[in-house]
Amino acid sequence: MIYPQSIMKLIEEFSKLPGIGSKTAQRLSFHVLGMEKSAVNRLAEAIIEAKEKTNYCTVCGNLTDKDPCMICSNKSRTPEVICVVEDARDVIAMERTREFPGLYHVLQGAISPLSGIGPDDIKIKELVTRMTPEVKEVILATNPNVEGEATAMYISRLLKPLGIKVTRIAHGIPVGGDLEYTDEVTITRALEGRREL
Ligand SMILES: [Zn+2]
Repeated sequence: MIYPQSIMKLIEEFSKLPGIGSKTAQRLSFHVLGMEKSAVNRLAEAIIEAKEKTNYCTVCGNLTDKDPCMICSNKSRTPEVICVVEDARDVIAMERTREFPGLYHVLQGAISPLSGIGPDDIKIKELVTRMTPEVKEVILATNPNVEGEATAMYISRLLKPLGIKVTRIAHGIPVGGDLEYTDEVTITRALEGRREL
């Protein structure tokens, strides 16, 4: 069945999103067509505004609409501990635990030779430049899969010669799992049971 050009375009854009197959893309498109014009405008504006106002924190690499981000500029957090994560969503997961008093560093990815992602393709250099004398510990909270482990090992080898205590979160988190989808209790235990590398 051939839809009018404008609908085809909408379906095509929806189907580029993660987890959206062509059937869902069609359903979403027809849902949008059935919405009030004001609601469609709000949706479109929310998408554009989120994209325009959100940027990466120049200090930690977290997603933010202020720079430095709210976490980096929070004076009640200790700059002595930096928790390294792969993704801005992992910061949200860690923050849900309310257990971590330090700062973050978001790598925006993990080392993955198979996908052609090397150390220079993620924010490792930026992490090294943050290693001032006030930093006492770096907690590596990359995901417990092949890429996350390789990234943790790489960073550990880089930072330990600088005399910084480098720890890795414990494996309460299932191997192959994602920090993002891990519950607060498991993350808190993994943080408490971290071991020195
Ligand atoms: Zn920040």
